[in-house]
Amino acid sequence: MKISDMNWQQVEDYLKTDDLAVLPLGSTEQHAGLSLSVDSILAEKMALDAAEPLGIPVFPVLAYGVTPYFMAYPGTISLRVETYTAIVRDILDGLYTQGFRRIFILNGHGGNAPAGSLATEWMADHPGTSVKFHNWWNAPETLAKVQEIDPVASHASWMENFPWTRLPGQLPTQQKPMIDLAAMRAMDPATTRRVLGDGNFGGYYQRDDAEMQALWDTGVAETRKLMQGPWAEVTR
Ligand SMILES: [Zn+2]
Repeated sequence: MKISDMNWQQVEDYLKTDDLAVLPLGSTEQHAGLSLSVDSILAEKMALDAAEPLGIPVFPVLAYGVTPYFMAYPGTISLRVETYTAIVRDILDGLYTQGFRRIFILNGHGGNAPAGSLATEWMADHPGTSVKFHNWWNAPETLAKVQEIDPVASHASWMENFPWTRLPGQLPTQQKPMIDLAAMRAMDPATTRRVLGDGNFGGYYQRDDAEMQALWDTGVAETRKLMQGPWAEVTR
């Protein structure tokens, strides 16, 4: 249930019998020829598709994340780690005040990992709550599906190229060799752009839509199972 399609009375009613909410986390950053909003689009859609039959409210995606390494690419906006964790903390606090006790964070961007650390700290400060931090793209079943389709997959490659993240225009057809990830992590933003070029970390730019739908379905099923449980005991 998209929170944008609900009014406050509906949320109040929901909270009378349940306490689970979904918070998608995204990023606004270069994805080679794909949308700058890939991570936000995928996190929010994954959250909505997985939660839909369960009737869990899905809050709007946090469309900015932590992505300092891509700052030399126009359109990329990065929040500082302290700003980011402060925002996520305020959102969790808000959910708690409203009466939510189980919170499913659906993360769509690796750089947002500090929110995962924050979540464990936040639970220690809020006994009786349970927060799951879920990276949809590298969860075991989804990652296995990626490997089965094509093991050469990475940031801004085919594995992020869905009909809902694709832009009009032609993408390169060759397979880009995998970059040296460890070396890239030691580069400043300008060097990163120089070395990385278009922004794809490695792999084909596009694959068959049927394969992409199968990957998406795997992700939705895996995410939905985790939303359903098991959940730690909570107190209201
Ligand atoms: Zn991405």
